[in-house]
Amino acid sequence: MAITLEQVANISIDTLIDEAVLGKRVHELGQQISQEYVGQDLLLVCILRGGVMFLTDLMRHLSIPHNIDFMAVSSYGEGVRESDGMVRITLDLLTDITGRNVLLVEDIVDTGHTLSHLLDLLSTRHPASLRVCCLLNKDERRKVEVPLDYIGFQIPDKFVLGYGLDMDEYWRNLPYIGVARSDPASAS
Ligand code: IMP
Repeated sequence: MAITLEQVANISIDTLIDEAVLGKRVHELGQQISQEYVGQDLLLVCILRGGVMFLTDLMRHLSIPHNIDFMAVSSYGEGVRESDGMVRITLDLLTDITGRNVLLVEDIVDTGHTLSHLLDLLSTRHPASLRVCCLLNKDERRKVEVPLDYIGFQIPDKFVLGYGLDMDEYWRNLPYIGVARSDPASAS
């Protein structure tokens, strides 16, 4: 069932990671990536839609030349909070990644299904290197092992929203990471 605008307006959200803490960590990640890729080609691949706010902030902290491109994958539908392992590419890259240093920019790694599928797919295109930068990691939920090269924050097993992440396509605009006190999907 579609979430109503009234539910969007009335939900209470607790802050898990505030704007200042987020900003500081994204800055650190940008500095670390800049140091490690200095003098090398770098292509950031953002996974839509959740990774977009993280990507644009991260780019502001990169002091090295780089390119960006986007991919989108099917995620779970409205009211569903867990991926079923079926990952479908809904938007592919425009860039040929053969011989490129690719850094995937992900919002969150949960079960690992999405990332595992993307890494398998992209590695068949023969990039020079393929690494992962994720903002949030829900380690305890992992079902498939995936290599994470840069991690913003380890977070507990909670469904989070804000800073690009959505719940039923809303709340992506929040400048912080929060947790809803109630889940519209469980309301009758
Ligand atoms: P995975 O395939 O289970 O690792 O899930 C990855 C995708 O599920 C992420 O890129 C998000 O789009 C979505 N996701 C997982 N956990 C959350 C969450 O707590 N809030 C919002 N989206 C989530």
